[in-house]
Amino acid sequence: MLIAFEGGEGAGKTTQARLAAIWLRDHGYDVVTTQEPGATKIGMRLRAILLDKESAGLSSRAETLLYAADRADHVATVIEPALQRGAIIITDRYIDSTLAYQGYGRNLPADEIAQINEWATGGLVADLTILLDVPSDVGLGRFASPADRIESEPQEFHERVRRGFRALAEAEPQRYLVVDARLAQADITRQIQDRVREILPD
Ligand code: C5P
Ligand code: MG
Repeated sequence: MLIAFEGGEGAGKTTQARLAAIWLRDHGYDVVTTQEPGATKIGMRLRAILLDKESAGLSSRAETLLYAADRADHVATVIEPALQRGAIIITDRYIDSTLAYQGYGRNLPADEIAQINEWATGGLVADLTILLDVPSDVGLGRFASPADRIESEPQEFHERVRRGFRALAEAEPQRYLVVDARLAQADITRQIQDRVREILPD
């Protein structure tokens, strides 16, 4: 089973993904936690290219393909083998990040990005996608200063990304849980646990 955590900057994905993994392990499940970009050796190199401020001027299409390359390597070497042995994989970001950041953020056609990602992943879709939804000013306000090239984009970019995530979730409500990421951490955790419980294998 594949569970993806998605959302903009400062939404709390990493924290909630970690808490979900601890909770599932406590209940005896074999859990793999992973993230994009940069879960593999090659992925780390792609992440450096993608996020380095020296990559200013990277074209939007090249950026999209580099995220897809990272994802292809991630699926082939981390996610698929874990799925094969029956683990629950929790990933911090997956395909929806590219649809939101490169599609809505960079204004590239969503259907083309979806096709590229379908090819890159061999059609592997998350069983559940948890969107931690936060207004971009609140999320960005949780950092003292932007840490990388994408976080340094103007707020309009991050607001488009947020709208993108929300539109994706509205289009496919059965695959998403949308949580207001401004709530207290414990409330967010409880909503996630309630939804994940519904899809857990016996
Ligand atoms: O989640 P994390 O902050 O580690 O992700 C690294 C950065 O990559 C984020 O700042 C995010 O804005 C960016 N990103 C992106 N497009 C994606 C996935 C992540 O621009 N498809
Ligand atoms: Mg970030």
